[in-house]
Amino acid sequence: MNLFSSFYRDRLLEKLSNTHYDVVVIGGGITGAGIALDAVSRGLKTALIEMSDFASGTSSRSTKLIHGGLRYLKQFEIGLVREVGRERAVVHQLAPHLVRAEKMLLPLTTGGTYSKMATSVGLMVYDVLAGVEKEDQRIMLSKEDTEKLEPMLKADNLEGGGLYAEYRTDDARLTIEVLKTAARYGAHPVNYLKAEEFIYEEGQITGLKCTDLTVNRQVLIRSRFVVNAAGPWVDQVRDLNRSATGKRLHLTKGVHIVVDYQALPVRQAVYFDVPDGRMIFAIPRGQITYIGTTDTDYYGNPADVKAWQEDVDYLIDATNHTFPDARLTRSHVISSWAGLRPLVYEEGKSASEISRRDEIFESPTGLISIAGGKLTGYRKMAERIVDLIGEKHWEQTGKDLPECTTDQIPLCGGVFTNEEAVNEYISDLKALLSAAGLPEGTAEYLTGNYGRQTDQLLDQFNAPSDDTDPDLRLAKAELWFCLHNEMVFSPLDFFERRTGMLYFRPRRMALYLQPLLDMFAWYFKWPAEKLQQESETLEKILYESAHFKPRPR
Ligand code: FAD
Repeated sequence: MNLFSSFYRDRLLEKLSNTHYDVVVIGGGITGAGIALDAVSRGLKTALIEMSDFASGTSSRSTKLIHGGLRYLKQFEIGLVREVGRERAVVHQLAPHLVRAEKMLLPLTTGGTYSKMATSVGLMVYDVLAGVEKEDQRIMLSKEDTEKLEPMLKADNLEGGGLYAEYRTDDARLTIEVLKTAARYGAHPVNYLKAEEFIYEEGQITGLKCTDLTVNRQVLIRSRFVVNAAGPWVDQVRDLNRSATGKRLHLTKGVHIVVDYQALPVRQAVYFDVPDGRMIFAIPRGQITYIGTTDTDYYGNPADVKAWQEDVDYLIDATNHTFPDARLTRSHVISSWAGLRPLVYEEGKSASEISRRDEIFESPTGLISIAGGKLTGYRKMAERIVDLIGEKHWEQTGKDLPECTTDQIPLCGGVFTNEEAVNEYISDLKALLSAAGLPEGTAEYLTGNYGRQTDQLLDQFNAPSDDTDPDLRLAKAELWFCLHNEMVFSPLDFFERRTGMLYFRPRRMALYLQPLLDMFAWYFKWPAEKLQQESETLEKILYESAHFKPRPR
């Protein structure tokens, strides 16, 4: 029985109530997912609870890069750059279909952030710290070569460029695949289950009272250790434990906008200067290019984070400054997302200056909290947390935990030996899919999203059906796959986090919204009013992701 399906929730909750766990993780973003996989793969009985959908917090709203963080070199964060830089190749190896090599172009301009010399040295140091293979190490480009590589760059103040290696991913898919892998090892991750209260015995945490938000019932979970990996909500969970003293979180907001590829047809990812001294990315991805990010202090409710007109205008102006021929306006924006960086507060530092390093806090009653960090570093963060649990386990039992082996555990869908194997798989699929009448780019999309699980999905696609539009048949096969294998409960779980359709293919989403919602209604036995209400909600979400209000004063 696959407990990571949408159809065995009752059994899963029964297990959660009846098991005495070693570790329960609060938070189903990448940090919590990584901890769950590390813990269960070292033999600890593990559960993970997520109050909304998996990856619905920051872990679906990042720039979606597995990167070393070049800009942290400027802040002399050598340790951070070395760790996340080296992690790039590891995470790529674990899921080469989902973490794809991407060359990044850094244009050098008169009066820009980096001089040619500083860039050349900086990128070289970056390569050394990150242990980049020789063939992938940075190349410095002349003005002419930079223009040739990226004809959209403004020629008059261009001095040259640096080309260096990064990786691109889908943050939400990465989180889901890590969780699915943890579930295969026997962990019990569950979404829509909110931690409300801690249970204590002799002054130490021994469990949690949770609410199942799908039916509003209480679930009690017993555990020897509880880890708080609640991202922007870390302090709220510490408040439940009355332990949010000393260091606190500092949230900063980051917005991305999406335009059609034709509106900003960059040939590769570009990391470019903004007139205010910051830098942002333009990243091509199939039929779109996305641009981001902003970085501003945020003091509101983490669940209400939105992109305002001011954020969008900032990104548009910055893009037009570097790519004047694009002449972007708000009307070019087809989608967007906004997320919060859960950073650890540092006195007197601005949003962009605060370190992205992770920190662990332990409360006197035993709550272990982790904050800060990067998507890229999730595995090492998890290792540190489970090593800490290992020390406590030793104190309690006199037994050692095995070492971390997550660098050797391929993620679900990622059983490819290397990038060439992924490319071969894509080219085999291409012939098959174009014969079936599917649009160009489908093979890349399916492989990037599902890896080898695409085979399973295509079996469903090939099953007898009344649908004459092959792309609709495919969208239905995707929903079928996600319902049976990826714990989808609400339409947004599917449209936003399992497929990225809301961000990257909003027109496809609008086109197939109704038939896909009908499928939800059939599987979950929705009454007509619920179907109507879901349909209106999603139409509104689609509209609001491309239309922006001014920031309230
Ligand atoms: P989250 O993903 O927010 O997960 C925490 C989860 O806890 C949430 O899903 C929430 O619902 C749940 N939760 C909260 N309270 C409870 C409760 N009481 N009960 C149950 N569940 C609860 N990093 C990179 O490496 N590369 C990048 O390109 C990159 N770009 C970024 C761009 C932006 C704009 C931002 C904001 C961040 C970026 N990052 C990047 C950083 C990275 O995205 C984050 O470090 C990471 O996603 C944080 O994950 P998390 O699991 O800690 O938090």
